[in-house]
Amino acid sequence: MQLVFASNNKNKIKEIQQLLPATIQLLSLEDIGCHEEIPETADTIEGNAILKANYVTQKYGYDCFADDTGLEVEALHGAPGVYSARYAGEQKDSNDNMNKLLTDLSGKSNRNAQFKTVITLNKDGKQQLFTGIATGKITEEKWGDKGFGYDPIFKPEGYQETFAQLSSEIKNKISHRGKATQQLIAFLINEE
Ligand code: IMP
Repeated sequence: MQLVFASNNKNKIKEIQQLLPATIQLLSLEDIGCHEEIPETADTIEGNAILKANYVTQKYGYDCFADDTGLEVEALHGAPGVYSARYAGEQKDSNDNMNKLLTDLSGKSNRNAQFKTVITLNKDGKQQLFTGIATGKITEEKWGDKGFGYDPIFKPEGYQETFAQLSSEIKNKISHRGKATQQLIAFLINEE
């Protein structure tokens, strides 16, 4: 089965490919000749995942799935949330985003946070949503050099290391995206 993953993020494509069975051939946006930036203008994580999946299906005619992720911090009333990528500005720089978050949380004892991923699947004319959540805490400083995004400052519940210190195998098992992807895979296998 051919399925487009509506993303240009090589890290995420690699992570998800590791989790997919060989019977599912994952196509990237590049593979289908989609080089434009897909609009992410919704004000919820769910809304953005739907926008992206619908864009590819409507414009290119492929079955596809799209994901959107946000980091929700309790002491900041759910921020940065849907604005996680551009929290510190339109340059969408991970280091700038982490620095801003650490500054915004400085002196705050409540470090509770969660990553949330929503995957929207458009397949055979039907739409399904899958949600994965990873709870944890924001650290006081950056630790580790693996992964991407906010990984160096997010310590998942039950672990003493940040996502950036854990192997990709462990992160894939316990992460928000891993959990949403496991639901997607279970659904796809069940449909085959
Ligand atoms: P997107 O929805 O995947 O574009 O992600 C939105 C923002 O969250 C970006 O700043 C990403 O770097 C960050 N992000 C997404 N997934 C992860 C993750 O697994 N770990 C750390 N940061 C992430």
